[in-house]
Amino acid sequence: MQTSQLLILGGGPGGYVAAIRAAQLGIQTVLVENENVGGTCLNVGCIPSKALIHAAEEFHKLARYDTESPLGIQAGSPIVDIVRTTAWKDGIVERLTGGVASLLKKSGVQVVKGWARIVDGKTVEIVSSPAAQPGSGLRISCEHLLLATGSEPVALPSMPFGSQVISSTQALSPGALPTSMAVVGAGYIGMELGMAYRKLGVEVTIVEAQERILPAYDTELSKPVLASLKKLGVSLHLSCSVLGLDDAGHLRIKDAQGAESTLAVEQILVAIGRRPRIAGFGLESLLLDMNGSAVRIDDQCRTSMRGVWAIGDVAGEPMLAHRAMAQGEMVAEIISGKHRRFVPASIPAVCFTDPEIVVSGLSPGEAETAGVDAISASFPFSANGRAMTLESSDGFVRVVARRDNHLILGWQAVGGGVSELSAAFSQSLEMGARLEDVAGTIHAHPSLGEAIQEAAMRALGHALHI
Ligand code: FAD
Ligand code: NAD
Repeated sequence: MQTSQLLILGGGPGGYVAAIRAAQLGIQTVLVENENVGGTCLNVGCIPSKALIHAAEEFHKLARYDTESPLGIQAGSPIVDIVRTTAWKDGIVERLTGGVASLLKKSGVQVVKGWARIVDGKTVEIVSSPAAQPGSGLRISCEHLLLATGSEPVALPSMPFGSQVISSTQALSPGALPTSMAVVGAGYIGMELGMAYRKLGVEVTIVEAQERILPAYDTELSKPVLASLKKLGVSLHLSCSVLGLDDAGHLRIKDAQGAESTLAVEQILVAIGRRPRIAGFGLESLLLDMNGSAVRIDDQCRTSMRGVWAIGDVAGEPMLAHRAMAQGEMVAEIISGKHRRFVPASIPAVCFTDPEIVVSGLSPGEAETAGVDAISASFPFSANGRAMTLESSDGFVRVVARRDNHLILGWQAVGGGVSELSAAFSQSLEMGARLEDVAGTIHAHPSLGEAIQEAAMRALGHALHI
């Protein structure tokens, strides 16, 4: 039997970051990964989706210039070779996953390829595949076991994945573009990929159970995205449930009034959420305390069993790569003897729709629910010069702060390219900035960042450009 100080199950953003940091700190670390390192995020999630979104945007831009544009640019009829697009995307994925493999090697992490099966809280068996016979693999014992097995897409019971019913994984590697696609779920994946497919010329219909798109965000934030969907010609079926497929393979849906209809589409992308990956590797034998279907953790990512830790998607919401990475880095430091707790001032979230949405910290509604006496103010991109030059003056930046001492509690923005504002938002929250700090900071002109300063000034009652 091989021994290790730290044994990590899963080489996604949580697992690989934990491994690199642990090795840097002199901890003898083994990382087990069944597929390519990089996990969901690098292989079939964040990176490939952003690549496809970019390609779709470039194509859409050219298609808009086909006849005329206010910019005076006219282009011919563009075509997209989706096989080459996919190959370009795969190239980025390979560069990044290869980079992660090199970093792991350079820092001295032992990467074991295979499927991990938990024997007990201190022993794991590595087999060739989830279907392999127990007892046939390499056994590794450990002082610390870190669960970083991530998550998997949720299927509709009435319509399992297969054939024309696909998950984001297949949608991110199209061999050919369908003429039409139904997207079930108007959350992160449905909206990001639904919009990208529409921009690539596919007829897209979105079916959402709630009465509005992106229900996790407030309506002010989702409104510009809704307007953009309509402009793109995406059909929307809100407050609708999915009944399954009919004999012709068409999607059967039911609206809020109980009326049934059928959507004759070539492909159906199901994006109704992801669930922690907790089955198929003996986790249940540890009898850990659970939080719904996620492993319950405390503010140091410790599970209910001593020496067993969990990070990232397997530990539940928010299922975001940067949260998994931050937890992984922290666990490695705690194991090395440092005093750390996971109490971030904010975990920013970005939805890469057109326009983009970014949130960091509390919204006005969340501040109210928390019982905080807060003020909030918005600054619209229609009054921002840089936004106008980028043809993207829809949207706004909003700030939320305590009324008494002006401590900033949260930021939200919707608009073209606002994902890049997330750094400024989160830094101001972590550093305990007040409205006066941001209002008194010189922001470069012309930039979208000026809207941040102006929102803070507006909350103080003296915006200059509105
Ligand atoms: P994962 O990345 O899921 O990695 C877990 C790894 O464990 C996998 O590689 C798996 O093969 C391995 N594994 C599981 N069980 C075993 C076992 N028994 N033995 C061996 N190996 C095992 N997040 C963002 O922050 N920004 C985004 O823009 C974003 N876009 C996304 C787009 C899509 C389409 C999807 C699906 C997700 C997106 N996410 C995004 C979410 C992000 O991918 C996840 O939050 C992140 O990957 C979680 O990291 P993790 O390390 O917890 O797990
Ligand atoms: P989601 O939770 O973001 O959205 C799911 C949507 O499906 C919701 O709007 C929900 O109301 C709807 N829904 C649920 N059941 C339904 C049903 N039966 N019929 C119709 N609609 C239904 O989930 P997702 O889009 O699958 O993404 C999963 C997770 O992946 C996200 O929560 C997020 O953590 C992560 N992700 C993040 C990003 C990002 O950070 N930009 C991008 C993609 C994915």
